[in-house]
Amino acid sequence: AKDAGRGVHRLFERDREDHLQRIDLLQREFLQAMARDELVLHYQPKVDMSTGEIWGVEVLVRWLRQGELRMPAGFIEAVEQRAPLIRQLGRHMLEAAASQIDHWLGTGRRWYVSVNIGAQHLLDPAFIEDVDEVLARHPAAAAWLQIEVTEQAALRDLESTRRALAACRARGLAVALDDYGTGHASLTYLQELPANQIKLDQRFVGRLLVEPRALAIIAGTLTSARLLDLDVVAEGVESVEQGELLLQLGCQVAQGYLISHPLPADALTAWADAWLPP
Ligand code: C2E
Ligand code: CA
Ligand code: CA
Ligand code: CA
Repeated sequence: AKDAGRGVHRLFERDREDHLQRIDLLQREFLQAMARDELVLHYQPKVDMSTGEIWGVEVLVRWLRQGELRMPAGFIEAVEQRAPLIRQLGRHMLEAAASQIDHWLGTGRRWYVSVNIGAQHLLDPAFIEDVDEVLARHPAAAAWLQIEVTEQAALRDLESTRRALAACRARGLAVALDDYGTGHASLTYLQELPANQIKLDQRFVGRLLVEPRALAIIAGTLTSARLLDLDVVAEGVESVEQGELLLQLGCQVAQGYLISHPLPADALTAWADAWLPP
């Protein structure tokens, strides 16, 4: 039995090594993919459900790997484990978002473009230099660029997170707290961090119609947000019923498959031109 135990132990050891090697390989491939410009960006609208107005769009990364479009669920965790990788992705996304803003402003579309920033990048002292570099190339984009951050950064270092977000705000950027309500100290962060917007996590939105607790959390968040003068966006809105209840609760801006899937920039522009407010 003892021998068998050692065998199992060795097996797990090998599994762990395999796992680490897989992550290592993924990280090296992702670095190459960025260099070869194999990242594909999709944009998903955030829409005011009461007027139909497009408030802005969130940019989401995909990876075109051997002819297959891979979603962030398959690689973003590995990328976030390596500071240089998540920083390079962040810089790439900020630059893409800012030039897209320039392009849209040039065609009369005043949309916020939101970029997801990983915790390690936000906490990197060079983060704000990365922002400044992009803004130097695209000064008009500052007023339309938003960064989306989760609680991860604040959990690690609240003061540095606060400082990084304040530096963004000082440059005219908007800040959204992403996946709101899923963490442990959401309310604390709401009070401590200079944000303009809260994104209700799709897990709550998805259970809104079936779970009184989800409804209570959303209603409570909306009350706090009103008191603090913050916008609220509901993410993962998939049905008309969810949208209607959210509107009744006072949440106007929504993002989700009900309105549009994330699309390439040109397709999103075409969608917006054809979009008729409900
Ligand atoms: P997130 O920031 O919470 O983004 C929302 C996710 O929900 C996106 O998945 C979006 O496609 C999906 N979604 C939108 N509407 C609906 C809906 O109605 N129903 C459902 N079930 N899902 C919906 P995606 O694009 O696969 O991204 C997953 C996560 O990967 C993002 O979650 C974000 O945390 C991360 N991510 C994506 N792009 C980037 C990036 O450029 N940088 C970083 N650091 N993270 C990124
Ligand atoms: Ca997001
Ligand atoms: Ca989210
Ligand atoms: Ca998320």
